[in-house]
Amino acid sequence: MYNPKSKKAEEFISHDEILDTLKYADDNKENIKLIDEILEKAKERKGLTHREASVLLACEIPEKVQEMYDLAEQIKKDFYGNRIVIFAPLYLSNYCVNGCVYCPYHIKNKTIARKKLTQEEIKKEVIALQDTGHKRLAIEAGEDPKMNPIEYILESINTIYSIKHKNGAIRRVNVNIAATTVENYRKLKEAGIGTYILFQETYHKESYEVLHPTGPKHDYAYHTEAMDRAMEGGIDDVGLGVLFGLELYRYEFAGLLMHAEHLEAVYGVGPHTISVPRLKKANDIDPDTFDNGISDDTFAKICALIRIAVPYTGMIISTRESQEVREKVIRLGVSQISGASRTSVGGYAEAERPHDTEQFDVSDQRSLDEVVKWLMEMGYIPSFCTACYREGRTGDRFMALCKAKQIQNCCHPNALMTLKEFLMDYASEETRKIGEALINAELNNIPKENVREICKDHLGKIQQGIRDFRF
Ligand code: SF4
Ligand code: SF4
Repeated sequence: MYNPKSKKAEEFISHDEILDTLKYADDNKENIKLIDEILEKAKERKGLTHREASVLLACEIPEKVQEMYDLAEQIKKDFYGNRIVIFAPLYLSNYCVNGCVYCPYHIKNKTIARKKLTQEEIKKEVIALQDTGHKRLAIEAGEDPKMNPIEYILESINTIYSIKHKNGAIRRVNVNIAATTVENYRKLKEAGIGTYILFQETYHKESYEVLHPTGPKHDYAYHTEAMDRAMEGGIDDVGLGVLFGLELYRYEFAGLLMHAEHLEAVYGVGPHTISVPRLKKANDIDPDTFDNGISDDTFAKICALIRIAVPYTGMIISTRESQEVREKVIRLGVSQISGASRTSVGGYAEAERPHDTEQFDVSDQRSLDEVVKWLMEMGYIPSFCTACYREGRTGDRFMALCKAKQIQNCCHPNALMTLKEFLMDYASEETRKIGEALINAELNNIPKENVREICKDHLGKIQQGIRDFRF
């Protein structure tokens, strides 16, 4: 029985409801009257239900698909402006007791090197990351109660926050670790994490159980209800995601939106972010052995429709995707990207990109300076902003910012000031030139005069060496 308010996985992600939704979408994919009504509703920027969004996903009428893209682009501009938040993943350990068949860290893989960073090694990684200009990390670790217990994760977070190398600082640590208990989520909250991220991988229970044949992750309900426990533990910024390629994308899309609706219905706060990873090649993993891979066009359509269906939810894309794909989906709705990522354990402190412990092949291998320059040349403002959670604006604060029409007075100056820090401390001469011109031009886009003046003043102080201003 489908019930978005239930806390039982199989009720808020009801298989029957998804099948009904897919049938409804198929039956209506050429129903222009309904499609127009849904697009009209979407223009109100209050989002769409999983059923409505699924109809749009099924629709292949070229003019209507173009309308979806145009609308997604407009919503992206209205809510996120031209800012793109940048982060990097930091792999702490690839020991894992699970048997996920699509991940090279699965327990039966004997060909991959296993590594767990010591606190000393974490320091080196963080210094290397700070030296490129990163301020926001997502830590990653396999599930292994003996090798990677919660105490190890907490100690590592503490180490990361404690390192201040030159002008560097990691100001927000997001955490991507296995589903855990309410008590452990509470500990993570107390450690000052930003978002707790956990990918569902697939919402299709039967497939889920086949893809996760062994280990604690095999338990579909425990995994799917993790965000409920995180919320109970006080973490109100949670990040959802599916691994596209494992199951039929239309099924996953409906499941993802149902999960978001569930969080909204029960906790009054939708997901903070949605990630859209696609299956990639890695040690012991060949994506061609999975039948459900999606084309770049379908991927772009999914991104556009997520933007339309959950306008207040940030969307994240990683360096799994090429520069070309990233350019396309940034326009359509992605608000956060990783840059200069190394997906191996201990990868940043090495001069050359190591491959022995990598979780997946990185398509976009450019340096952070190159990524920043590339974004600016396309007219985006790379942002290293971490202000909200440090100012206590968690949970539905982004919505509150939107509703109070304060984004341009908050995210915008924060983006400019954090970009200025990057330009001063880490950028190449060429990038700095482009950035300074961009900041000067973009200052005019801060609506409130007093905020603009304060921002100008802070920019001057950053020039003199003072750091970490925020609205
Ligand atoms: S996806 Fe996560 S849980 Fe599964 S094998 Fe990889 S690291 Fe372990
Ligand atoms: S001010 Fe808040 S919502 Fe805006 S970019 Fe910074 S952290 Fe994100």
